[in-house]
Amino acid sequence: TERTLVLIKPDGVARAVVGEIISRIERKGLSLVALQLTTVSDEVARGHYAEHAEKPFFPSLLEFITSGPLVAAVVEGPRAIAAFRQLAGGTDPVEKAVPGTIRGDFALETQNNLVHGSDSPESAEREIALWFPGLS
Ligand code: ATP
Repeated sequence: TERTLVLIKPDGVARAVVGEIISRIERKGLSLVALQLTTVSDEVARGHYAEHAEKPFFPSLLEFITSGPLVAAVVEGPRAIAAFRQLAGGTDPVEKAVPGTIRGDFALETQNNLVHGSDSPESAEREIALWFPGLS
C-alpha cells in the first residue's frame, strides 16, 4: 500500500466540488487517512511548490493557492500515487485531461485545475510531512 498527498485547491472549495472529488477518490477504492480544510500560509505554499520557484507562473500560483481555504488529504491504497493522478487527469484540463477525469470534467484552466496529487513516492513523503507534520 502507498500514501499520496491530495489537495483540493481553492477553486475546488469555491466551486463546491469537494464532495464530488472525495466521492471519486472513495469510489476508486482509495481510503482517507487524514483530511483538513485549511487556508495555507505563504511559507507552506512556497515549500509545496519549491520545484516551480523559478517558473514564470510561480507568483500567480502562490497567490492562487493561498487565496482561500483548500482541502488537504492523505489518501492511501495500492498504487495510490498513480491511481489518484489517473483520477485527476493531465495538468492542462483541456489539452491533456480527458473527460471522465476530475480536471477533464470540471476544469478549464491550467492553473485553476482543481486538484494536486503527489507525483512520486519521494514527493509524497515530503508533501505529507509538510502538510501533516503530526501524522505517523
Ligand atoms: P500538481 O503538482 O498540482 O498535481 P501537476 O503535477 O499536474 O500538478 P505541475 O507541472 O507540477 O503539474 O504544476 C503544478 C501546478 O502549477 C499545476 O497543477 C497548475 O496549478 C500550475 N501550473 C503548471 N503549469 C502552469 C502554467 N503553464 N501556467 C499556470 N499554472 C501552471
